Amino acid sequence: MSQVPQELTIGGREIRPGSRQLLELQLPLLYTHTPVVMSAQVIRGRRDGPRLFISAAVHGDEINGVEIIRRLVRSPPLKGLRGTLIAVPVVNVYGFVRGSRYLPDRRDLNRSFPGSEKGSLAARLAHAFLAEVVSNADYGIDLHTGAVHRENLPQIRARFDDQGLLERLAKAFGSPVILNAELRDGSLREAAQDLDVPVLIYEGGEALRFDELVIRAGVRGIIGVMRELGMLRPGSRSRRGGRPEPVVARSSQWVRAPQSGILRAAKPLGARVAKEETLGWIADPLGESEVPVQSPVAGLIIGKVNLPLVNEGEALYHIARFAETGAAAEVVEQFQAAHDPELDELDAVEPPISE
Ligand SMILES: [Zn+2]
Repeated sequence: MSQVPQELTIGGREIRPGSRQLLELQLPLLYTHTPVVMSAQVIRGRRDGPRLFISAAVHGDEINGVEIIRRLVRSPPLKGLRGTLIAVPVVNVYGFVRGSRYLPDRRDLNRSFPGSEKGSLAARLAHAFLAEVVSNADYGIDLHTGAVHRENLPQIRARFDDQGLLERLAKAFGSPVILNAELRDGSLREAAQDLDVPVLIYEGGEALRFDELVIRAGVRGIIGVMRELGMLRPGSRSRRGGRPEPVVARSSQWVRAPQSGILRAAKPLGARVAKEETLGWIADPLGESEVPVQSPVAGLIIGKVNLPLVNEGEALYHIARFAETGAAAEVVEQFQAAHDPELDELDAVEPPISE
């Protein structure tokens, strides 16, 4: 990294060292001709360093990340920032205002990258985000949640590179489970990788909900990655002490509903399960024909459905397998205790700032 600060221009605005700017990137209008902008906060330290983008609501109904970014950009550790943070709380603005994962043209933005200037609405939005945000960054963290009625244990997804960089950053995030996940066609992660911008995905909680534990862990996770990148000073030993080392899953798989019906779940998110252990039961409303849902493998539940009304074939439980399931279960337990909002007085929800 050169010592002479380089010029940084985003959305036609120059961002000077030691400044913080709110940018509004113009997007296609609504059909009412109401203007639509993608808001970004760019915080540039006085000293040169890596450029990191943080994005949320690429799926418009996944709102945990929006709150993570709001807290992050106001957090005191950023005062000593080296390099540049580009924070985009709502990428899929069109989906967000409708509480929908998709764009109004029913496309999934995270299958529409790299997009193009003349393509569909989704393609244009993808292109604008790559051109203005990703191209100006060295690294990225994209924040997601489970889908509607589906909840994820906080987890990092990344495809590990040969240099071990993404594995190092994934561990610095500190979420208990890491999935070494292949790049998905058309995803932001794939398009960014093609521009040599490695991206971590943080997944946690459920669509259209705030999950306090997931949000706290997300803010701390991003700060952990920024420390690892040298953008922030290392945390104090006492804060870091005793933090469990995240574990990398060997593989993961979904357990599907063997029949349609009403699910009675027996296991919570994060639970350790043995092979063939019962995860729940599915029955008709009067309980006449009941079948158990069994785990085909030993592992940890890292995702689950929350709506008990299920159709045959529906994905119910996401089970991750580990080399040592017991050790992984312990990491999850320590993580949950460390970020439990009831026990944890740090980073308490602050009252709104009065104008
Ligand atoms: Zn998502």
